[in-house]
Amino acid sequence: MEMLNEINDISIAKHFKLSEFACPCCKRVILHPRLLKKLIELRGIIERPIYITSGYRCPEYNQKIGGVVNSYHLIGLAVDIKVKDISLIDLLEICEEIGFGGIGFYEKKNFLHLDVRPTKRARWRE
Ligand SMILES: [Zn+2]
Ligand SMILES: [Zn+2]
Repeated sequence: MEMLNEINDISIAKHFKLSEFACPCCKRVILHPRLLKKLIELRGIIERPIYITSGYRCPEYNQKIGGVVNSYHLIGLAVDIKVKDISLIDLLEICEEIGFGGIGFYEKKNFLHLDVRPTKRARWRE
């Protein structure tokens, strides 16, 4: 049904649509404004599209892909991103300056996990 393709097809910022943050299995979405704000800041610095490879995840989907049980993806505080034509290490440095609470550096799979956790900073590498 054509109408269903329009679910979450809503611009929430100049370069971001709500649909980009939705769970791929059910199209549900939770998004914290602090996360969006930091992604807008990042987009402004790098001047390149940010590909959100994982945003909100419902519990079923998170389990299916082997996400951790208490993942910040489950509560709208986390995204995984890829950006073309910029090295992952350069992207990491910019994200450090912006001050994400959690940053995961996935070198082999070439993506960053970013979150705005309310607890103390966390950094990891895989
Ligand atoms: Zn889902
Ligand atoms: Zn993640």
